[in-house]
Amino acid sequence: MTRSGFMCLLPGLFCIANAFAAESPSKYPLRCQSDDGFLLILSDRALDPERCKSHVARVIKAFAFVADSAAWKDRGPLTAQPLRFSVLGDPALKVLGYAQGPNLMVMKDAYMDNPLSEGTLAHELTHIQDLRQLRGKRLPSFMLEGRALTIGQAYRMHIGQKPGDYDRQMARSAATFTAEQAMELLDNYRGHGWNNQAIGTVVVEYMRVQWNGGVAGINPRLSRMIERIAAGREFDLAFQDEFKVAAEAFADTFAGWLRTTQNIPQQRLRGTIWQSFAAESLTAKPSRVARDDYVSEVIDIVDEVLRW
Ligand SMILES: [Zn+2]
Repeated sequence: MTRSGFMCLLPGLFCIANAFAAESPSKYPLRCQSDDGFLLILSDRALDPERCKSHVARVIKAFAFVADSAAWKDRGPLTAQPLRFSVLGDPALKVLGYAQGPNLMVMKDAYMDNPLSEGTLAHELTHIQDLRQLRGKRLPSFMLEGRALTIGQAYRMHIGQKPGDYDRQMARSAATFTAEQAMELLDNYRGHGWNNQAIGTVVVEYMRVQWNGGVAGINPRLSRMIERIAAGREFDLAFQDEFKVAAEAFADTFAGWLRTTQNIPQQRLRGTIWQSFAAESLTAKPSRVARDDYVSEVIDIVDEVLRW
């Protein structure tokens, strides 16, 4: 028996509700929905109707931004199935938010009042769109995260926010990865957590800014790669088809660049989304709070995708 299962023997009904919630965040009552029925807002609590409507509007706006950034060839898969957004209270949700497979996004309702949640929305919606386009095929988790973090950051800037403590922490990781650390992280197609997210973002930023003079329209190009994977190509081959360079050769070039720029943040971060933090990136204090405030793990993606 799991620890939570055991704990649930005592407090009775509350615990049953809690266990139910933890296992089925998509089963909460419907509180409101978009006019076209695409977006369904679920919650464990009675949401004020205005607040519920505001959640709908914010998700739809971020979803459109993500779709534009990705520039999908076919937007059909994006709205082919309803998207459930479950906003939950503290007892039901321990983390701030996550996407679970292609059809469900979960977030703490109180976190929606934090401006950073705009970035989290765009981040999770990028996962949702990528998974919908992949149609059950696999993209390495670092690449899913690199996509989601760059688009999430772009969305925050798009709506007028400024880079903040979260970006400073990311800049620190970006500036300090060694080539060896990076290669180990990139070897793991199912990694998770802060470093997995950070290295994926460094890869996407490196491609956008540095690689062969910088790849124009990097996110549309990555979308083309995802479409190739959805059509049946393995990741490494889809990468080669799209960028005309073997994935392994890319990794060698990337590792060489990491070695050249080791401990020279002004060079490594030049032109990237972290450029303004270059001077302080090596001395920025790691802040667990800033990380926990933002990091939302994609949990159960694999199981969910297989079942989809
Ligand atoms: Zn993510």
